[in-house]
Amino acid sequence: MTDLKIVDAHGDERIVPNAEVEHFTGKFNGEVLRPADPGYDDARTVWNGMIDKYPGLIARCTGTDDVVACVNFARDNELLVSVRGGGHNYAGKAVCDGGLMIDLSPMKDIRVDSEKRTVRAQAGLRLGELDRETQKFGLATTLGINTDTGIAGLTLGGGGGWLSGKFGLACDNVLSAEVVTAGGQTLTASPEQNEDLFWGLRGAGANLGVVTSFEYQLHPVGPVLGGMVIHPLSKAKEVLPFFHEFSSTAPDEVGTVGLLMTTPDGSPAVGMVACYSGPPDEGEKVLKPLRTFSSPIADMIAEQSYVEMQSMFDEIWPPGRLYYHKASNLRDLSDSAIETLVACAQHFPTAVSSIYLMQYMHGAAIRVGESETAFPHRYYHYICGVQSGTDDPDDSEKIIRWTRDSWDAIQPFFEPGVSLNAVEDTVEEGEHRVREAYGVNYDRLVALKSKYDPTNMFRLNVNIIPSGVEA
Ligand SMILES: Cc1cc2nc3c(=O)[nH]c(=O)nc-3n(C[C@H](O)[C@H](O)[C@H](O)COP(=O)(O)OP(=O)(O)OC[C@H]3O[C@@H](n4cnc5c(N)ncnc54)[C@H](O)[C@@H]3O)c2cc1C
Repeated sequence: MTDLKIVDAHGDERIVPNAEVEHFTGKFNGEVLRPADPGYDDARTVWNGMIDKYPGLIARCTGTDDVVACVNFARDNELLVSVRGGGHNYAGKAVCDGGLMIDLSPMKDIRVDSEKRTVRAQAGLRLGELDRETQKFGLATTLGINTDTGIAGLTLGGGGGWLSGKFGLACDNVLSAEVVTAGGQTLTASPEQNEDLFWGLRGAGANLGVVTSFEYQLHPVGPVLGGMVIHPLSKAKEVLPFFHEFSSTAPDEVGTVGLLMTTPDGSPAVGMVACYSGPPDEGEKVLKPLRTFSSPIADMIAEQSYVEMQSMFDEIWPPGRLYYHKASNLRDLSDSAIETLVACAQHFPTAVSSIYLMQYMHGAAIRVGESETAFPHRYYHYICGVQSGTDDPDDSEKIIRWTRDSWDAIQPFFEPGVSLNAVEDTVEEGEHRVREAYGVNYDRLVALKSKYDPTNMFRLNVNIIPSGVEA
């Protein structure tokens, strides 16, 4: 083998002698891929087809020892590092150009303890994989709403979904986590051990180390009553105020998403999606107003398994499509906000583009104090996102332009705050987004980052810069 050409943390190219690479690979149980190796292209491919990055080396980890070996190799050689969980981040932070990609996706061990109602899950799992396993016992924990999303990135950024009103965010259900720090130490973070790290992981985790596994609290869940009710877009100015009233007064068992979208037959539409996770009989009563409001063109709400409900968006967000996305916190659906959203929806650049209003922050998720965990946005709001997609690379410029224009138009209605999982590229959006994401907890997180990652090894994320390190 030849010496390794790789990019370091300062963005400079450096040569690592082959003997040193072999010293690393000798301690590594998984595959280590260089650009010419079979499997390299598959391993660098992430969910968003817009991302096309070429790591200098991909280390496909099989367990904690492999992660420790990667971190030590990266630190000793001052390498640029990216960490891949599910690879679902729109901006493609899981992959890096030229550096070392620590790929956790082969790490999928999962153990459910049905008596204690807990699960220990390795960080390479996607949420559909975790749901399928826990649902064998009629149990679940809060995760997102697209089965392809990695549990790791989602949980470390807070993590909302259909169950967050009833059980809190994904991070609120973490009982403990195993973490490899930048120093190469393997630590347990829990309420009893390394409490400061445990606090920080729950909302800012990607900055503090590589989490190799999570232990989550599980809850009895399913079957659920859920699905979408659809109205023509021309009715949006009546439907969306109703949606806001319904969502903001619904019991904790209800999670909702509002969608401005295009139906499969090409008609612009407004959808109200709901999932009731209590007893379905009770759900029939609770969701009745949503189903009987005005005259929907379709009512697809039905009793179904929680796993089915979790996959309802999979078809409209397939992996490999080219996506562009921006999102922020929207507290109130005022008439003028609705008018602006509808005006943007009238110019969708493609039929697979949409504007969504995800109501994750309600009920149990907002009964947690803003500094109880690193995730600070504990007030009722929607995550409002403008998402465009295309299967034709020639449309890229068009979808980016529409997303940016719509984003600018909606700006006046946003809060000065954004959920970490909704921040895309702070390089494009500006450093103020980092402060908006961590809010009141920012200064405490800088101190924590300086303790656990003083050289900023873990920088490909919504990055907190440690004290004394230049941006
Ligand atoms: C279609 C779609 C639907 C979504 N729906 C939801 C939703 O319902 N709720 C929600 O909360 N979010 C949602 N998200 C956002 C999603 O949670 C984030 O993009 C999340 O970061 C994805 O996690 P991942 O592991 O797949 O990401 P990756 O792209 O692998 O990583 C994202 C970031 O986390 C870091 N990271 C990943 N794993 C680890 C680890 N083990 N240790 C340390 N750092 C790590 C990476 O370095 C990177 O900075 C959605 C995103 C998409 C594209």
